[in-house]
Amino acid sequence: MTLTNKIFIAMAAGIAVGTLGNFLQPALHGSQWVSLLETYFFFGALEIVGKVFIASLKVLVVPLVFVSLVCGTASLGGHNRRMGVMAGKTIALYLLTTAIAISIALTLALIIEPGAGNTYQSTSEYQSAEPPALKQVLVNIFPSNPVKAMAEGNMLQVIVFAILFGVAISRAREYGERIAGAFSALNEIIMEMVKILMQLAPYGVFCLLAKIFYATGFSLIAQLLLYFLTVMMALIIHATIIYTSLLAFIAKLNPLVFLKRIRPVMMFGFATASSNATMPVTLEVAEEKLGVKNSVASFTIPLGATINMDGTAIMQGVATVFIAQAYQVDISLAGYLTVILTATLASIGAAGVPGVGLITLALVLQQVGLPVEGIALIVGVDRLLDMMRTAVNVTGDSAVSCLVAKSEGALDEEIFYGRTLEQK
Ligand code: ASP
Repeated sequence: MTLTNKIFIAMAAGIAVGTLGNFLQPALHGSQWVSLLETYFFFGALEIVGKVFIASLKVLVVPLVFVSLVCGTASLGGHNRRMGVMAGKTIALYLLTTAIAISIALTLALIIEPGAGNTYQSTSEYQSAEPPALKQVLVNIFPSNPVKAMAEGNMLQVIVFAILFGVAISRAREYGERIAGAFSALNEIIMEMVKILMQLAPYGVFCLLAKIFYATGFSLIAQLLLYFLTVMMALIIHATIIYTSLLAFIAKLNPLVFLKRIRPVMMFGFATASSNATMPVTLEVAEEKLGVKNSVASFTIPLGATINMDGTAIMQGVATVFIAQAYQVDISLAGYLTVILTATLASIGAAGVPGVGLITLALVLQQVGLPVEGIALIVGVDRLLDMMRTAVNVTGDSAVSCLVAKSEGALDEEIFYGRTLEQK
């Protein structure tokens, strides 16, 4: 059985066990079984294995991004203009897909009106964290201390430092060649580490999902059903129509093959709710299953995990309309344009970790004068939506990576269509 199938089965089993536990909870309420089950199983063994699994993915992120991007940049052999062109295309595509995503979300939400006609009650407290100021976001891209950037896992700073290092390698002649050799050996080793840890994925995914589905309040979904379904529908439209059309019409690639190949990436995104933690898998799949050359994948994938969040922008678009309707505030057309702009820019400053989309939502709401407390209305169902939107975020990263690779002549279609794999 392939690893992808194993992960899929683990995912389904995790969801089933967690949901079953969740439904049995009220029936067994008060009995000692519930507390035993909770303490030792769901919030004990499963939580421990789940956390260890996430840590084992996260531990690879900084070394992987640094080493792989140094290799990628160094391999461009001093053609720095190519790097500039590639960076320009990548950033433009990331911003464009995010703007399309949020426009779909706003349009759907305005048609469906998920927040109209009801007076919603806050189901939980929401303490809004201070969203980052956009000016600071730009300044923060540039590191003042590379060790600090790595220690804090500040991806954009690590990316900037790695590019500088790689460019310097390619200009340092024989000294550079020596170091480039060492880096490509290191890169191979880290990719092997990714493969070893991926073998653990079925267990990790099972534990994460069983615990989350056990702890999720399904009754909240019923109350917020329209909101939930609107976000879901926009996510599905974006993933199945927008990415596939871009791949088919611009890159002339078969989108169904793409969707099949990136299944593990989507599943990791769903289970971890973190683009960052999924990055080792996204990079591995981009290079080894989609055929994107390291020089492109090592740049587009880490950058995408940090600045490209189409799924998050979709949630923010629907949430803004929902909160405006629930509080009966009218947002003008200019307001909606502000939402598109702010949500697109906000995704640049937010790292790909669970729940960050809600923090930057505060920024979007503030920009259009909506009450930030409105977030409390939707926080109850956010974890599940976070999982779904992260799956879309990482799909977007992979799609843009293919588009850029194709346009740069850096996509190996033999690998994309699985010809070399099947022959092996
Ligand atoms: N969890 C998302 C990600 O990592 C970000 C978010 O929407 O909260 O991509």
